[in-house]
Amino acid sequence: MIVVMQPTASPQQVAHVVERIEAMGLEAHAIQGTDLTVVAAVGDDRKKEGAQLEQAPGVDRVMTVLAPYKMAAKESQPSRTTQVALGPGCVFGGKQVPVIAGPCSVESQEQILASALAAKAAGAHALRGGAFKPRTSPYAFQGHGEAGLKMLADAREATGLPIVTEVLTPSDVQQVAEYADCLQIGTRNSQNYKLLEACGQQPKPVLLKRGMAMTLDEWLQASEYILAQGNPNVILCERGIRTFEDHTRNTLSLSVVPELHYRTHLPIVVDPSHGTGHARLVSDMALAAVAAGCDGLAIEMHPDPEQALTDGAQSITPAVLTQLMVRLQRVALAVDRTCEAAV
Ligand code: PEP
Ligand code: MN
Repeated sequence: MIVVMQPTASPQQVAHVVERIEAMGLEAHAIQGTDLTVVAAVGDDRKKEGAQLEQAPGVDRVMTVLAPYKMAAKESQPSRTTQVALGPGCVFGGKQVPVIAGPCSVESQEQILASALAAKAAGAHALRGGAFKPRTSPYAFQGHGEAGLKMLADAREATGLPIVTEVLTPSDVQQVAEYADCLQIGTRNSQNYKLLEACGQQPKPVLLKRGMAMTLDEWLQASEYILAQGNPNVILCERGIRTFEDHTRNTLSLSVVPELHYRTHLPIVVDPSHGTGHARLVSDMALAAVAAGCDGLAIEMHPDPEQALTDGAQSITPAVLTQLMVRLQRVALAVDRTCEAAV
């Protein structure tokens, strides 16, 4: 933390700031410049409430230097990306760029099985599908709950694909973790700190989506809630944010991929389905995400998108996914990665 004094600050006011910093258990170094004085606080100030020093007489502003997250920060593991495995053929954070594909919701046994078989045939590495759905309208289809989890488990049994599915509330974490290979925390819940902690207290990997109005700092602090509870298996998922732009459902912010690789060791997945809202945009943005260096993709695919109960407009067909897998591999190779179809 650096405290910038006002140009008119008196030596007594500087001394007061030094005293306050030392009282926090940090070392204080006052540096007198030609126009003003700054006081540098040395030590880990993440647990200190430094911003209040802005109220001290003679202080202009307080600047934080250390990232507010510790375990998620790149410095905690500078040399590599953390690898998070959902199964032997699906590891995020390595050379491979795995693809999670499947419908928005688990609608029926037939639908999820058809989706799983299609995902498998196309070469996807994991199956997605929501059994608990966070819907904007309380009257919309809310998912089949535990019955949906059982359908997902049957689809895994039939195909061998690991399952990614959303958990909405801390009280459901244990149940969802019994069925799922990876727990998804959705955009609406990404700052539900009790849910983040509950997911941190169980061992299954967690796919943490970006809140639709979240900064990167807030997102990484949300991931820190999971990590700090003892679960190191966190995957970040960019799924688009709210902006003024309305030609897409959300604005898919692909520049976060290299920026997150700079700030964190956690793997980063991109969801071009929620990121665009339109099936016609999904393949191109998936290719762009791989070119930008993402560690995986999460794509909504439905055997019959026109009949989908949720997110039909943004769901691609199995045929489109099959073509996309071939194109993804070409782009992946161009950026020294591989997106080889799963066997
Ligand atoms: C989903 O994956 O279907 C979903 C609801 O995602 P998000 O939380 O990103 O809207
Ligand atoms: Mn969806």
